Amino acid sequence: MDIEKIRKDAELFTKELEEEYYQNLGGYKDELNLSAIYEKYSYLFRRSTVDSVKELRDRSEGEEKRQNSMLYSFIAEEYIRNLIKKLDEKYMAEDAKATVNVDGKDVPYRQISIMIGNEDSREKRSKMDALTDPVVEKHNEILKERMLKLHDLSVELGYGNYMEMAEDLKGFEIKPVRDMMERFLRDTEKVYVNSMNSALERFGITVDEAERHDISYLFRAKDFDRYFPKEGVVGNWKATMKGIGIDPDAQKNIILDTEERPKKYPRAFTMPLEVPDKVILFITPHGGQDDYQSMLHEGGHTQHYANIERAHPFEYKYLGDISVSETYAFIFNYLPTDPLWLKRYLNMGDSEIDRYLNFAFLNKLFFLRRYASKIIYEMELHAKRDIDGMDTRYKEIMERGLKIRHKANRYLLDVDDGFYVAQYLRAWIFETQLRKHVIEKTQREWFNSKDAGKILKELWSYGQKYSVEELAKMIGYGGLDAEPMTDEIISALRG
Ligand SMILES: [Zn+2]
Repeated sequence: MDIEKIRKDAELFTKELEEEYYQNLGGYKDELNLSAIYEKYSYLFRRSTVDSVKELRDRSEGEEKRQNSMLYSFIAEEYIRNLIKKLDEKYMAEDAKATVNVDGKDVPYRQISIMIGNEDSREKRSKMDALTDPVVEKHNEILKERMLKLHDLSVELGYGNYMEMAEDLKGFEIKPVRDMMERFLRDTEKVYVNSMNSALERFGITVDEAERHDISYLFRAKDFDRYFPKEGVVGNWKATMKGIGIDPDAQKNIILDTEERPKKYPRAFTMPLEVPDKVILFITPHGGQDDYQSMLHEGGHTQHYANIERAHPFEYKYLGDISVSETYAFIFNYLPTDPLWLKRYLNMGDSEIDRYLNFAFLNKLFFLRRYASKIIYEMELHAKRDIDGMDTRYKEIMERGLKIRHKANRYLLDVDDGFYVAQYLRAWIFETQLRKHVIEKTQREWFNSKDAGKILKELWSYGQKYSVEELAKMIGYGGLDAEPMTDEIISALRG
C-alpha cells in the first residue's frame, strides 16, 4: 500500500467532489454526477484500502498518528457513503420532485417549510404541515432501509455498533457530551418553559399545546425584519470583519457569490475549493434576522478556510474535527446576542435591544435543547441494529426536552449521519469558552478589536489539526465546559 498515493488521491478526490457540488449548488448545471468521481478513485474505497489505512493508523505515533487518524476516518466514511450512494440518489430525486397540494395548487415539498414559517394563520399552518405527512411516510421507506444498512456496515467494519464506529472515526467520546447536555436540560428547564410560555402568549397557546409549525412561525420573527434589510446583509458582515481588522474586499482568496440565479441553492453555504487560496461564500440575500445570522455564520467558515496555513498537509486543511470550523462560524453567528453589537452595527434602540435579546436567546436555547434531545435520542437509535419502536422514542424524547408536540414519523428525517449532532454541540459549548477568552485578552467589545482578529487568525491558521478539546486546553481551560454557555443563557432570559 502506498500511503502517499492514497493521501494525494484523497485530496484530488475531495477537490473534484467540491467542484461538482459547486457547479450543481451554484446553479451552473442540473446534474450532480458523483458516481463518475467515485468510479475514478474507486480503489480508495475498497475494503482492503480501508483496512490497510486503519492498520497504519493503529501502529503510527505522534504527528503521524494524528494525520493517519484523519485520513482513516475520511476513507472509512467515504467507503460507507459509496455503498449507500444509490439510496441517497433515490432519496434526493424523490425529495426534489415531491409536491403537496395547497388549496388546489401543487407546491414543491422543499418549499413548504418556508411557506409555513411565513403563514400567519395557525389553522392554515397546521393544514400545510399535515399535507407533508404522506411525503414523509414515503421517504421513511428509503430512510429505514438506509439506516439499517448503515448499522450493518458499522458491524461489518468490525465495530460493536454504529455509535462505537462514530466515536472511533470522530476521535471523541459521545457520552460525555450527552451527559453535559442532560445537565443543561435540567438547569435550563424552568427558564425555558417560562420564556416559551410568555413568547407564545400572543398566539393564545402554552408550550405544551404548541406544534412544530408554531415554532417555525415564532422564530421567523417578522416584526424584526425592519432591522435586517436585504440590502444590508453583505455590508453588515464586511463592516463587522473590518472591526476585527480584516477587509474582505482586499482578500483575493475569498469570492462572495451574492448573485440571484434561478437554480442556485437558496441557502447560504461555503465551498473551500482550494484551501486557503480559493474559498467561495454563496448567499442570495433575502433579509430578516436569520439571513444576517447565516451570513455571519458562513463568513466565519470562510475566514477560517481562507486563513489556514498553506503549508499544512491535506488532512489539517480539509479533514479533522469539524466542530472547530463550526465554532468559528458560531462566534460570529451569535453576535446578534450581544447588545453592543446590535447597537453599533444595527443601530437598535435600547428598548428594542431588550426585546430582541429576549427573542435571540430563546431562539438559541430552543436549538440547544433540541440538539440536547437529539443526542439523547441518537444514542439510543444507534446503540443496536434494530430500529423498531424508535419512532415512539423519538416523540417521547423530543417532547420531554422541548415540551412542544412532535410527530413520530420524523424519527429518521431528523437525524444527520455520523453524530453530527455531537459536533454541533461541542462547537456551541466551545464557542462561549472561546469568546470569553477573547474578551479577557482584548476588551468587552471584542468584535471591535484588531487584537481579537489577531487571536482568531492565529487559531484559524491551524486548520482543523487540533480538536476543540485540545484548543480549549490550549487557551487555558481544563477542557470542554458547558457551564459558561448555560450561565449566559439563564441570566439573559431571567432578565
Ligand atoms: Zn456551519
